[in-house]
Amino acid sequence: MRRGQKCTLTATGGIRNDTCFQGTVPDYYVDAQSVEDIQKSLQFAQQYKLPVTVKNTGHDYRGGSAGVNTFAIWTHNFAPDPVITENFTPDECPSPVGPVVTYHAGQIGTHLYNSLQGTGYMIVAGSCPSVGPSGGWIAGAGHGIFTPSFGLGVDNVQQMKVVLPNGTYVTANRCQNKDIFFALRGGGGGTFGVVTETTTKLHPDQEYSYAFVQLPVPDVRTANEVLVANAERWSEEGWGGVYGVLDVAGSPNLVWLGYNANLNLDEGKASLKPVTDYLKSLPGSEHLITDFRTLPNQFTAQNDPALLSILLPEAGVSLTRSSRLVPKKNFQTADGQKALVDALMANKFGWGAVIASPTNYTLAESDQPGGPGESSVSPAWRDSVWHLTYTTTWDPADPDATSPEALASMFQEMSEAMDPIRAITPGAGAYQNEADVYEPDPIGSFWGEKNYARLLTIKKQLDPDNLLSCWNCIGWNVNDERHECYLNVRGIGPSN
Ligand SMILES: Cc1cc2nc3c(=O)[nH]c(=O)nc-3n(C[C@H](O)[C@H](O)[C@H](O)COP(=O)(O)OP(=O)(O)OC[C@H]3O[C@@H](n4cnc5c(N)ncnc54)[C@H](O)[C@@H]3O)c2cc1C
Repeated sequence: MRRGQKCTLTATGGIRNDTCFQGTVPDYYVDAQSVEDIQKSLQFAQQYKLPVTVKNTGHDYRGGSAGVNTFAIWTHNFAPDPVITENFTPDECPSPVGPVVTYHAGQIGTHLYNSLQGTGYMIVAGSCPSVGPSGGWIAGAGHGIFTPSFGLGVDNVQQMKVVLPNGTYVTANRCQNKDIFFALRGGGGGTFGVVTETTTKLHPDQEYSYAFVQLPVPDVRTANEVLVANAERWSEEGWGGVYGVLDVAGSPNLVWLGYNANLNLDEGKASLKPVTDYLKSLPGSEHLITDFRTLPNQFTAQNDPALLSILLPEAGVSLTRSSRLVPKKNFQTADGQKALVDALMANKFGWGAVIASPTNYTLAESDQPGGPGESSVSPAWRDSVWHLTYTTTWDPADPDATSPEALASMFQEMSEAMDPIRAITPGAGAYQNEADVYEPDPIGSFWGEKNYARLLTIKKQLDPDNLLSCWNCIGWNVNDERHECYLNVRGIGPSN
């Protein structure tokens, strides 16, 4: 058992002076830069029965891109320039689907946004530019600042190519390999094969309204009430971004950061009037920060310094989080709003609501449940106003904070902090890519029972020996050696 084998890099101090162990870091990596590299790696792993993990950027909060004693396929350098096709016809489909961009396994958001600058097109990809849009991002659902109006990442995909665990290279879209297309868009990363490329819809670029508002708040309950009372309307108006009551330098601040493709600047200001009026009424309102602007294009929005400062922490920050997709109905009555505010008040971490659900997007007929383009994300995404997150950090160089006992207690506290919200959102979901490591109901929360049953069948067909696996992934085994570093929290964890 490898619990407590920590030698995490710190943000400023590099590695601390200590005896280091391998921890979850795989013993062997292949720097895969082509389809053939991936095929040969998987065939080699099959031959010698080596458990495989797949790593792209390593952003996975739940550790899915590493594993004890695994053979790792690293895709980060498989990144030729993205290619735009003006009128793309997916392989074996009867008709074209319009403009698309195709990018490989190792691209990050920055490459896509840079390559589309000046083309007149925009794309749905991560708010965070360092996430891998062809890796875990798309496998888990994929949200960004424009998903409320243009759909989740999975809704925009026209085609994916993947090397299956047996080494076969296949194309999946709405016309062929539909089960695989379903599984790759929501079933989770590192499970069904190694994706080599993704082809995604392009939209005409445009101007966007922008709002950034911030002020310390003396009375957190009233701040929560204002945000909860207006949440459903903001979502319906198409805002994407994040707001909440966050700890800033030791005091609670109301922070509101949003991007809108539907409202003009005056309409954007009017939309946020309840929050700006409230903040202007507070003592200290002379310190109120308000920044309302029109941004000329997506590139400017994705490179907004306020967005980047929230999303790009220094390397080496150790953090964990819990999250919940909070449905519309929780916002629709006075009793529902009060219950939500009470539950937020019970949490000591501060909170952020990512507004990312496709509330302003109509799912195409082909992508409705039962259709050829159905995705496997939790149906809760289609009915949620908030992707609510609580986050905490610790110093990776502090031996007290990083003992197995201290970490177990901290992960438990973080997981339990979301319980009051879980209690008032029965049957809702959670975003697997930004979830509690010890989520008490992963099947119901990440996929829903129906999607899970189909995903499990596909997994057993494609990978009967579980060559590819990760924590809480479809078909995983908690006692797999890969998970030996995980703790036992809330009764979830390896048994030995
Ligand atoms: C700072 C930060 C900001 C974030 N911002 C956003 C955001 O704006 N929107 C959002 O939706 N999410 C966001 N996330 C969450 C993010 O979507 C997940 O962490 C995602 O899993 C990252 O995918 P990756 O490929 O970059 O990372 P990795 O850790 O390399 O991989 C994640 C998972 O995908 C698998 N995987 C990677 N590549 C492949 C491949 N080619 N084929 C098959 N499986 C693969 C891995 O095995 C692993 O299970 C953020 C995370 C961080 C740390």
